[in-house]
Amino acid sequence: MSYTFKGVSPSPELLRDTAFIAGDWVSAADGRTFAVTDPSCGEIIRHVPDLSREDTRKAIDAAHAAQKLWADETAETRADVLRRFHDLVMKHQEDLARILTAEMGKPLQEARGEITYGASYLLWFAEEARRVYGDTIPAHRKDARIMVLRQPVGVVAAITPWNFPSAMPCRKFAPALAAGCAVVFKPAMETPLSALALAALGERAGLPRGVLSVITTSDSRAFGAEVCENPLVSKLTFTGSTQVGRLLMAQAAPKIMKLSMELGGNAPFIVFDDADVDAAVDGCIQSKFRNNGQTCVCTNRIYVQDGVHDVFVEKLTEAVARLNVGSGMDPRTDLGPLISEAACDKFETHIADAVEKGARILTGAPTRLPQGTFVQPTVLSGLSSDMLVATEETFAPLAPVFRFSDEDEVVRMANDTEFGLASYFYANNLNRVWRVAERLAFGMVGVNTGLISTAVAPFGGIKQSGFGKEGSKYGLDDFLTMKYVCLGGIA
Ligand code: NAP
Repeated sequence: MSYTFKGVSPSPELLRDTAFIAGDWVSAADGRTFAVTDPSCGEIIRHVPDLSREDTRKAIDAAHAAQKLWADETAETRADVLRRFHDLVMKHQEDLARILTAEMGKPLQEARGEITYGASYLLWFAEEARRVYGDTIPAHRKDARIMVLRQPVGVVAAITPWNFPSAMPCRKFAPALAAGCAVVFKPAMETPLSALALAALGERAGLPRGVLSVITTSDSRAFGAEVCENPLVSKLTFTGSTQVGRLLMAQAAPKIMKLSMELGGNAPFIVFDDADVDAAVDGCIQSKFRNNGQTCVCTNRIYVQDGVHDVFVEKLTEAVARLNVGSGMDPRTDLGPLISEAACDKFETHIADAVEKGARILTGAPTRLPQGTFVQPTVLSGLSSDMLVATEETFAPLAPVFRFSDEDEVVRMANDTEFGLASYFYANNLNRVWRVAERLAFGMVGVNTGLISTAVAPFGGIKQSGFGKEGSKYGLDDFLTMKYVCLGGIA
């Protein structure tokens, strides 16, 4: 029996079972495929081609040829294509959201939001494409003139994880295409359907053949090795775990390749005595439980000051107990399934470790629900820094609440991690707001808000959360090189 999409099936143009290489929709040469399943029930949605390293090479060759022509187009032409791409994504928002929920599990309402969010990068960079300005610099000699040109880096390889199957590809396609690069892209094995649907819309928007290829494969190592070793690839942009990022950096080292790394996080969420507690509870629910705790900017550790600790914990526990767990296609659902059995195992391990070391479960359950990969959102109190939840990214709906007394202590605890992606705090004293924002060692700080992602701001981490920025007026820099031209002998 074929997968039903709970009533409304997406258009066949968007629901693909072939990959996209050099402008052609293709199967694997040897016919191999792998299954894409719905994590809420385990049903197979589609089979997609299991492409080989040779296929990645073909896509790179085509991208190399197409990139030069694409870069020679006017900025206006590239901007127009990106704008049409944006408009098509928004026109097909409902189909794209259904594909996304089916393969990833997040509630349909969140999936619709992700489509809008991803599309906003296409629009933002359609506008930025026109503003790749160079510079002139007063020269060091009378007979010289100095100019700075900004040029596309060339062929870009891109790899993304499963947690934002549509927004992550858009965040990479948009600046790369705006800058005049060509993209060879590999989605996560769990969620290739959203990326293929985007490719179909990119093709319809007028992307020339070869400028964008989507390689579906179960052999991510072969893809990584090819793009790191192939001399025709000039840049790799990667979003995923710090562990794989480290591996790719090592593989890319011999070629001295330009890299962007959007890696793991371990976000602190701090509530000071002078905070608005109700607003802090709302912000915590948004930043901890969005996408079922499976975002890189998700709150991982919650620190609450003595004066508001008990009231915050009580209100948070009540709010979490009200969250509904179920299929993402059900409009009553707040939290869908986790992506895999391994994700459930990590959730259980982190709770078991904390409870063994003295933590208490205030709401939720220490184990998964009987069927599928569903777990109950859980709040823990009585935490200490020797627990796994203090040092590792849980990537699940687990809210561990630590107690603290003073500002210096909490800033030290918040910064005591090798990660440096997102951080959040709630406070109203203006001096404290400035002090703490400056002292938190993270690439992004949310003050009195749990939602920080937007195309207009520079998204990215420091420390072992990586480097490079996605979005904002800085987002094109990672896809451009700066060339200095010195014109001499001017009489
Ligand atoms: P992951 O294991 O690192 O996988 C991410 C991507 O890398 C997938 O497409 C995966 O392909 C591919 N991959 C795995 N091994 C590879 C290799 N040896 N060579 C080339 N590619 C390889 O990450 P994940 O656990 O699925 O995703 C969650 C992680 O991503 C979390 O740590 C989260 O914090 C991070 N993340 C960061 C950001 C950010 O912007 N900083 C955003 C979202 C997520 P297959 O799955 O097909 O093997």
